[in-house]
Amino acid sequence: MSTTPPTTPRPRLPSPLQELRDERFSRHGVTLALKRDDLIHPDLPGNKYRKLFLNLDAAVAAGHKTLLTFGGAYSNHLRATAAAGRLLGMETVGVVRGDELAGRPLNPSLTQCAADGMRLHFVDRSAYRGKTDPEVLASLVRASGAENPYVIPEGGSNALAVRGCTALGEELRDRTDTAAVACGTGGTLAGMAAGLAPDQRALGIPVLKGGFLGPDIRALQERALGAPTANWHLDERFHFGGYARTPPELAAFANDFEDRHGLPVERVYVAKLLYALTALSEEGTFPPGTRVTAVITATEPATPAAQSSTSR
Ligand SMILES: *Cc1c(COP(=O)(O)O)cnc(C)c1O
Repeated sequence: MSTTPPTTPRPRLPSPLQELRDERFSRHGVTLALKRDDLIHPDLPGNKYRKLFLNLDAAVAAGHKTLLTFGGAYSNHLRATAAAGRLLGMETVGVVRGDELAGRPLNPSLTQCAADGMRLHFVDRSAYRGKTDPEVLASLVRASGAENPYVIPEGGSNALAVRGCTALGEELRDRTDTAAVACGTGGTLAGMAAGLAPDQRALGIPVLKGGFLGPDIRALQERALGAPTANWHLDERFHFGGYARTPPELAAFANDFEDRHGLPVERVYVAKLLYALTALSEEGTFPPGTRVTAVITATEPATPAAQSSTSR
């Protein structure tokens, strides 16, 4: 498999690591750094580059002309796949959750997908939920009309995605004690943890309500690497009611963080991560001297909150 990422322009790797001065950390003797994965590629939002590039290599190597993947109406992964297809000259098909969206004006995220040439195929929620079953998946693919597509799962988290994310951990070796990332499917955390040295800790902050993520992440690590690693854990307290929910307390935190540091705080994932780390620091969770790194997976303001797609 080639290690040359096929996309243009070239990704910015390793992503920059920036120290931040924030007294909510420094008064506990803790340093906070930002791992700026949002700066890796202008067209592929945040960590999605790391999750996609080995899949793109595999698709091209196997002669596929079409990428097919799944997502909700505000999925960053759908947008990244559409952009990758445009850059590579491949067709893309997005299977979108919610057949009630068909024929309605597209939201900004799906508008961008369509502008990048992605064909959108809307399916009802129960069929969408069934897509982990091979037969349901096969019939969804058939119904989409895609010919011999390379299929990437929802959120882009498969074994190649996890392997692609190990580089995130490797870039942080010797540079941090705890590396933290917001989790959707957990694929990024699974890979990052595996790339860190065994004495470095990875912390995941799930942005969805449910508490189902731990077994998923272990399974992803098993499939990608042969065995789960023991150096990560989740703190499930910071989902704020569920995906894309931004209650006033979280919005106020994010606005204040932007004022303090001049960093636009993406609301769906990054705000919850930064809130969680700040709370953990103020609770005294990190021993003095701890270097904490927050992986900034996106900086653009979130598209308007997903009103009708708060569950998955
Ligand atoms: C997709 C995404 C994540 C979560 O990645 P997973 O690998 O699904 O856990 C985090 N932040 C942003 C901005 C994302 O788009």
